[in-house]
Amino acid sequence: MTIQLREVCKTFGSYTALRNVDLDIADGEFVAILGPSGCGKTTLLRMLAGFEQPTSGEIRMDGEVVAGASSLIPPEKRRIGMVFQHFALWPHMNIHEHVRFPIRTHKKTPKAIRDNEAARIEQVLALVGLSHLAKRMPHELSGGQKQRVAIARAIAAEPSLLLMDEPLSSLDALLRMNMRREIQSVHRETGSAVVYVTHDQGEALSMADRIVVMKEGRIEQIGSPQDIYLKPETEFVAQFVSKANLVRGHWDNDMFIPEGSGSSVQWRGSEVAGYFKSNGLYPVRPDQLELGPVQDGGLVGQVANVQFQGKEFNYDIIAAGQQWEVISPVPYKLNDKVSVTIPQRELQYA
Ligand code: ATP
Repeated sequence: MTIQLREVCKTFGSYTALRNVDLDIADGEFVAILGPSGCGKTTLLRMLAGFEQPTSGEIRMDGEVVAGASSLIPPEKRRIGMVFQHFALWPHMNIHEHVRFPIRTHKKTPKAIRDNEAARIEQVLALVGLSHLAKRMPHELSGGQKQRVAIARAIAAEPSLLLMDEPLSSLDALLRMNMRREIQSVHRETGSAVVYVTHDQGEALSMADRIVVMKEGRIEQIGSPQDIYLKPETEFVAQFVSKANLVRGHWDNDMFIPEGSGSSVQWRGSEVAGYFKSNGLYPVRPDQLELGPVQDGGLVGQVANVQFQGKEFNYDIIAAGQQWEVISPVPYKLNDKVSVTIPQRELQYA
């Protein structure tokens, strides 16, 4: 299913939750909507589902207008499946019944699935690894198993679009990592488009084909995970997605001279977005900066905080009157003097 949003706005009373959202989603694409709390992610998802109507603008699915200021096709008439943060399972139904329910009730369930209901239920349960638990009730399941039931229920009627709203946020850290793999595999197996709402950068970067970064009801940047991570176009994206330091200084074409370094230090940055160049900033991720002995040259800084992380250390470094976050495997102590450099290579894809 292809989806187009054109100048979609949503207001609640005097509050504007979405402003002029333009977005195209390709058939089978996995799109993550990433942004902080309150930026309008869930409103956007509810609009794709048909629970909310745009105040203005238009949404098309496969070319057909499904929502506009004066029209709305309701959720049950769209070929969508939904998975929510809190799994919302029905306490009186076993797993098999959960998966059977949408097959029987969705108006758009394909006839081939309706006619082979038992086979479809078995197929979907196998896909999420729950075949052996088909008779269990929700209260007899772990959190991860419940979330798998919610996914199985959402894909049972073969939706063309799967909407997921923070589906992993109520699971523990290890389970979240494993469920990422399962969601990727469900996406591969079903081929349906996925719109996945999250405030977790790692989830968006690891699973999505494309990420839509939102702030205050607007789209800040749309791009592949690599583009969003390596080539942020705004301060917000640089800080929210890759925790970049915004180093102040002076641009001379593609060369950057950090403030306080005279011209003895120059960083190359032909790929740094125009916004930063015109504002005298260089976005640099904590893992891009390197620490070394002071005699190495570079900016002289001082360690203001150290956190041991196992594989490496997280440092706060004060250099040239600015505080930078740096990740380095080299151990330093509080107040040590260090040289801070950025390796003289262009930003590039890993
Ligand atoms: P979170 O990650 O916290 O769920 P979100 O990005 O999903 O946040 P939304 O739930 O889309 O944000 O809400 C966007 C804004 O719109 C919020 O400020 C919210 O308070 C407001 N909002 C959402 N629904 C309504 C409503 N029905 N009535 C009034 N305001 C609403």
